[in-house]
Amino acid sequence: MRRASSWSTPGLTSDEMACLARDVRALGLPVVAGFATHPDWDHVLWHADLGAAPRYGTAACAAVMLEVRSAPGWQSRAAEGLPPEISDEVPMDLFGLLTGLPAATAHIPWDGPAVGLVEHPAHARGHAALVVEDARVLVAGDMLSDLFVPMLDVEGATDPIGDYLASLDLLDAVADDVDTVIPGHGSVGGADEFRTRLDRDRAYVRALRDGGEIDDPRVDSPRPGWEWVADIHAHQARALTDRGR
Ligand SMILES: [Zn+2]
Repeated sequence: MRRASSWSTPGLTSDEMACLARDVRALGLPVVAGFATHPDWDHVLWHADLGAAPRYGTAACAAVMLEVRSAPGWQSRAAEGLPPEISDEVPMDLFGLLTGLPAATAHIPWDGPAVGLVEHPAHARGHAALVVEDARVLVAGDMLSDLFVPMLDVEGATDPIGDYLASLDLLDAVADDVDTVIPGHGSVGGADEFRTRLDRDRAYVRALRDGGEIDDPRVDSPRPGWEWVADIHAHQARALTDRGR
């Protein structure tokens, strides 16, 4: 369903991640830590050239990945979930090897600039956004995209709509501390755009909840390669109807 050409994450294929590692090296910066915002395949990748730095995630995120990696034949099963056009090019050896941070961890355990965690239940188990405090940057994971509609955990959560709205409130609570929002998929935005996206995402989720008309430019995106966002919307609207919201 998801096409690699539509991704804006730093890299999915081995070549892309090796390029990222080269670019970081060229800046004279060491890779000292990684962080996976949530346990979806495109957020738990790693390449040997990035080195052996610890890769953190929330405890719940790391637990999901441990479960994935513990199942017999997990590599082929995980590969089946990849977009077929790149499934041969995504490195799997280091896939999902995460160190879980204990629940209620407030900051990434490192010597670098203070980076706070905002753990929340939307979209996937163990999701967390990061706030780079001095720089006033929010790394949003799969939230607050200008291109994707909110993607609810319609398969896994007991109350996907309630979880999503509560999570938007948690992100809203750090809005005064943030000048820049970086979504996992989509464009970087400023403080005003952050608030616009919070409002737009709330309106979308409430319309899903109420079964109302969806008036959201992302659903019928004119951008080439993004037409399938309408499929995400249709899928979750149907799933929510089937489960009685
Ligand atoms: Zn995701």
